[in-house]
Amino acid sequence: FAELEATDPEIASVVLGELDRLRGGLQLIASENFSSPAVLAALGSTLTNKYAEGYPGRRYYGGCAEVDRAEEIGIARAKELFGAEHANLQPHSGASANLAAYAALLQPGDTVLAMDLPHGGHLTHGSKVNFSGKWFGTIGYTVRRDTELIDYDEVRDLALDHRPKMIICGATAYPRLIDFARFREIADEVGAYLMVDAAHFIGLVAGKAIPSPVPYADVVCFTTHKVLRGPRGGMILCREALAQRIDKAVFPFTQGGPLMHAVAAKAVALREAALPEYRSYAAQVVRNARALAAGLADEGMRPVSGGTDTHLALVDLREVGVTGRDAEERCDLAKITLNKNAIPYDPEKPMIASGVRVGTPSVTTQGMRELEMRRIAGLIARAVRTDPSAAGGADALAEIAGEVSELVAEFPAYPR
Ligand code: PLP
Repeated sequence: FAELEATDPEIASVVLGELDRLRGGLQLIASENFSSPAVLAALGSTLTNKYAEGYPGRRYYGGCAEVDRAEEIGIARAKELFGAEHANLQPHSGASANLAAYAALLQPGDTVLAMDLPHGGHLTHGSKVNFSGKWFGTIGYTVRRDTELIDYDEVRDLALDHRPKMIICGATAYPRLIDFARFREIADEVGAYLMVDAAHFIGLVAGKAIPSPVPYADVVCFTTHKVLRGPRGGMILCREALAQRIDKAVFPFTQGGPLMHAVAAKAVALREAALPEYRSYAAQVVRNARALAAGLADEGMRPVSGGTDTHLALVDLREVGVTGRDAEERCDLAKITLNKNAIPYDPEKPMIASGVRVGTPSVTTQGMRELEMRRIAGLIARAVRTDPSAAGGADALAEIAGEVSELVAEFPAYPR
């Protein structure tokens, strides 16, 4: 770091400023985590220099013996950890992994059945502003109004009506378990591929805290930087029969040279995720999310679907009379980082939203447990109800920020 400071003090101050921000507040963004020093070391290594188009043993450049080892080790670890027949570690991101899966299995114009964005789906599941919605015909399924759970009967009816070539399950804001067996049945009934976008919850699968989609899906795509706690990036698992198509869809169809420092860092994260400590971590992430959701419910903030089985809760703020946007801003002023989020059948526009999403991967990495989740729920509730423009509001938020500082000081992120 001394070299960065000497060469580029401006960027060095950004890196230090971000570290201070991470340490100084509560990080409750459900898709974030604190990657380990070992993962960061691999990311910051000279492997970033290497061009390695192709796959281990079949590269378009010389000098790949060392990076081949990194990728082979990573592939073996991924197959072992997830019980998968084939793994591709090269996707640069979750969106790149999804693009490659579409490219491997579909032709432009084919129909895809996926979860509607306002109900928790991802942009790459058919949004009109994304390649998925522009180049493919997409049909959206929803959650039921009464239970706020995926409406499997609707999924089946839509599948029978529209005969999609691929069905996607997996979401960015769905707090409950997904019935992969049921999706497999529906896909088989209409002869569709089943792609599981496990970006959010693959870390919980790795830690055996929730069931795995791998036995049911043709292709499982995910990011490596969420609960899994690896570097920013993507990965794809699939059956052997689809291995060649997936590999070709990643390179050369949608990507050029792989980021070998990131591939090595993914291998490190996979090693860490196979340890018993990680299994305890994953179980605690879920217990913490449940405790946080219950704590927020006690504060009059309704968790969508009544709670959570995963690492995140989606909270309906309409009873409190505060929009998701205002709640996000108020929490920010109290050093609590979370995001506004649409709730199912949200009457508000997405940029305003009626809810917030909270996740426990980062605070659990810091070592917090259920007791702290109860404290956090109380802090969130006070912050959300405090209008900074009202008399005394700014002071009240600053006081909450002070309590947040005390809490995080007990559980330092990246201890010195
Ligand atoms: N799929 C899901 C379900 C996600 O939640 C995300 C990101 O949040 C992605 C894909 C995209 O990942 P990335 O941001 O790495 O492209």
